[in-house]
Amino acid sequence: MNRERLVRGLAALEIEADAAALERFEAFHAILDEYNQRMDLTAVLEEDERIDRHDLDSAAPLALGLLKRDAKVIDVGTGAGFPGMPLLILRPDLKMTFLDALQKRIAFLENTLKRLGLTAETLHARAEDAGRMEAHRERYDAALSRAVANSAVLQELTLPFVMPGGIAVAWKGPGVAEEWQQAKRAAYLLGGTLREPVPAPVPGRPEWGHMLLITDKTKKTPGAYPRRAGLPGKKPLGA
Ligand code: SAM
Repeated sequence: MNRERLVRGLAALEIEADAAALERFEAFHAILDEYNQRMDLTAVLEEDERIDRHDLDSAAPLALGLLKRDAKVIDVGTGAGFPGMPLLILRPDLKMTFLDALQKRIAFLENTLKRLGLTAETLHARAEDAGRMEAHRERYDAALSRAVANSAVLQELTLPFVMPGGIAVAWKGPGVAEEWQQAKRAAYLLGGTLREPVPAPVPGRPEWGHMLLITDKTKKTPGAYPRRAGLPGKKPLGA
């Protein structure tokens, strides 16, 4: 792994990484390579692009100071651990839960956490089902989601996890403006207030136009939500 590129990128985001974090990033990349030879885990990227697209992009909420110390955070649809794993590597104080509907990804994450010496919870479930579970509903300071669904659908998949006073954060591209109005209406129905999109450029890659969509959880989510698995995607709220 090109450590210099990672350190330079993090410094541009004003994020410090100690030696333990850099070693863990290196080990994480090696584990991703190992698994990618056996299963379809992530798109295989050239090494520098992987640092930018996965590690630096995932770190965006830290650059914006969105996650307080010891925050309880859930990564909804984490896949191979993005954004949750880079965030946990950089901030081992976070109480992270990795959620995904695919068991093989959860098994990969459990193995990775053990090998990196990190502690976190994993949850094999659909977000629609987990959002109704007593142990997870309105229990988190922040629910994060990258590359899982459109913005309105994501409100329903993430906001039920967030306690009033917390936030949901979705990673989006330059097209987010087109989804914003509907997502705002969906957020309102779920007890949230959607902010204007916040630019979150990846260092050295301004042309990607990455944005974060942040929703403040202002009220409890009504008991009707989330609807049963599959419905949020089929009939997005706020249309
Ligand atoms: N967040 C990762 C990233 O940015 O690389 C993975 C993105 S991948 C395109 C989408 C992931 O979301 C998949 O691992 C899929 O299993 C998961 N997913 C999609 N819908 C889901 C749902 N309703 N509940 C839980 N996981 C879901």
